[in-house]
Amino acid sequence: KEEGAACAGCGVALQSQSSELPGYLPESAAAREPVICQRCFRITHYNEASSVAIDQDDFLRLLGSIGSTDSLVIHIVDLYDFEGSLISGLQRFVGNNPVLLVVNKIDLLPKGLNMNRIRNWVQRTAKEQGLRTVDVILCSAKRNIGFEHVIEALEKHRKDRDVYVVGATNVGKSTLINRLIRDYSDLERELTTSRYPGTTLDAIYIPLDDGKAVIDTPGIVYTSRMTEVVPRSFLGSLLPDKPIKPLVYQLNEQQTLFLGSLVRFDFVEGERQSFTLYISNALNVHRTKLERADELYSEHKGELLGAPSREELESIPEWTRHSLRVRSGEKQDIFVAGLGWIQANGQSGAQIDVYAPKGVKVLLRPSMI
Ligand code: GDP
Repeated sequence: KEEGAACAGCGVALQSQSSELPGYLPESAAAREPVICQRCFRITHYNEASSVAIDQDDFLRLLGSIGSTDSLVIHIVDLYDFEGSLISGLQRFVGNNPVLLVVNKIDLLPKGLNMNRIRNWVQRTAKEQGLRTVDVILCSAKRNIGFEHVIEALEKHRKDRDVYVVGATNVGKSTLINRLIRDYSDLERELTTSRYPGTTLDAIYIPLDDGKAVIDTPGIVYTSRMTEVVPRSFLGSLLPDKPIKPLVYQLNEQQTLFLGSLVRFDFVEGERQSFTLYISNALNVHRTKLERADELYSEHKGELLGAPSREELESIPEWTRHSLRVRSGEKQDIFVAGLGWIQANGQSGAQIDVYAPKGVKVLLRPSMI
C-alpha cells in the first residue's frame, strides 16, 4: 500500500504494523476492495467493535469534546489494576456530565470475599482521586457477572442521552461493548461510525431504541502500567484469566522475593510477618536472602527466576527502586500497576524496597481485601 492511504470506511491513515493502533490493515487484506481498516471491517461484517488505542494528548482532546455534549459517561476500570487504569482528571474533562464507574474483572478476585467492602473501597479510592460518580457497578464482562446491574444503571442514569464509554487499554472495554451490542442495542438499526470532533478518529455509534447511541472511544495507553511495558508475547502471563489464588509468605527481614524476573520485593527491616501476593499465578515466585539477590538476578534472570525470558527482558526498561514504609496497625497493599499487589498484614511495621521497570507506578494504599 502506498504511504498515506486512507481507510475508505473511517478515513484514518492505514498502517500494517500494529493491530492495536488505529488504521490497522493486515497484509492479507490489502488486496480487498474497498480498502478498509480492520476495525471498520469487523464493524460492518460482524457488528463487532474492537477498540483501538491512542496516546494521552489525543485522548484528552477527545475527552474535551465529550465535555461539550450532554451525555452519560461510563468509565470502565480494571479492579485488578485500579490505580493503573483509572483516568485521573476525567472529571475535569467531562465537565458536568455524570460518570458511571464500571469496575470490571471481579471474576479474578478470590472466592468468598465481602463485595460490599470492595465496593466501599472502590468508592473511597475513586473519591480520593477526585472522581465524582453517580454509581459504582462491579462486574465481569467476560464471565457475564453483574452485567444486569450495568444495564440497570445505564437505564436509570441515561435519561434520553447518549452514552460515552471511556477506559484505558486492556480493561475489557471491547468485551463490554460487544456485550452491550448483543444485549442492549437496537439491533434493527445498524452500527454507524462518524468522526470525533477535532480528531482523525472514528467513533462507533451503537444505536439505542430512542434514537440515542452508545459511543465507543479509543482506549488510552498509560505507560505507567506493567501491561504496557512488557512485550505482547508476555501479556498472557501477566493478565490472569482465572480467580487469583493468593500466595502467603512468612518472611524474616533481609529476605527477598522475585516475582518472575519482573519485580523484586525486599523485606529490608521489621519483625517476622506474613505478606500475601495477589498476582497472576502464571508468575514464578522465588524466595532468597537479600544479600544473595543481586547475584542471583544477574545470573538467573529470565531462566531459573522465571519469565519474562532474557530476550523479552531486553525490551523492558531497567528497574528503579521504590522505598516504602508500611505502617503498623492497618493492612496495606504494595500496589504495582498492571501486575497486582502484595498485602502487608499490619501486625507490625516494615521497611520495603520494590524494584520495578522504570516508569511503572508503584504505590502504597489501604488494603482492598
Ligand atoms: P480493551 O483493550 O479494554 O478493549 O480490553 P479487551 O476487551 O480486549 O480485554 C483485554 C483483556 O482482558 C483480554 O485478555 C480479555 O479476555 C480480558 N478481559 C476482559 N474482560 C474480562 C473480565 O471480566 N474478566 C477477566 N478475567 N478478563 C477479562
